[in-house]
Amino acid sequence: MENRDPKRGIKVTIDPKRCIANAKCTAAAPGIYVLDDETGVAVIENEEAATLEQLFAGARACPTQAIIIEQFGRRVFPRILTPMFGEGKDGQDDGEGETR
Ligand code: SF4
Repeated sequence: MENRDPKRGIKVTIDPKRCIANAKCTAAAPGIYVLDDETGVAVIENEEAATLEQLFAGARACPTQAIIIEQFGRRVFPRILTPMFGEGKDGQDDGEGETR
């Protein structure tokens, strides 16, 4: 039953600039988040097979908020994305008016 799929519209991105490669996400959701051998930063390996819980567990474990979860184009995690030091690029508002 696809209409009961809790992952509908879910999209996970990992910002390589935020990732400090401390492997918290890979410990929280092994096999879903993995550290890329070449770049050293986390990548999502098995998004199709991952449960929503696993996706969120990894994202919650990340101390730098490198893992961003959106649903139907709206960010659902983290609720507040703290700006990176020296970077103004992530400052776009998604129009919800409650990002701070
Ligand atoms: S927990 Fe965050 S900082 Fe650590 S490896 Fe995963 S994405 Fe990178």
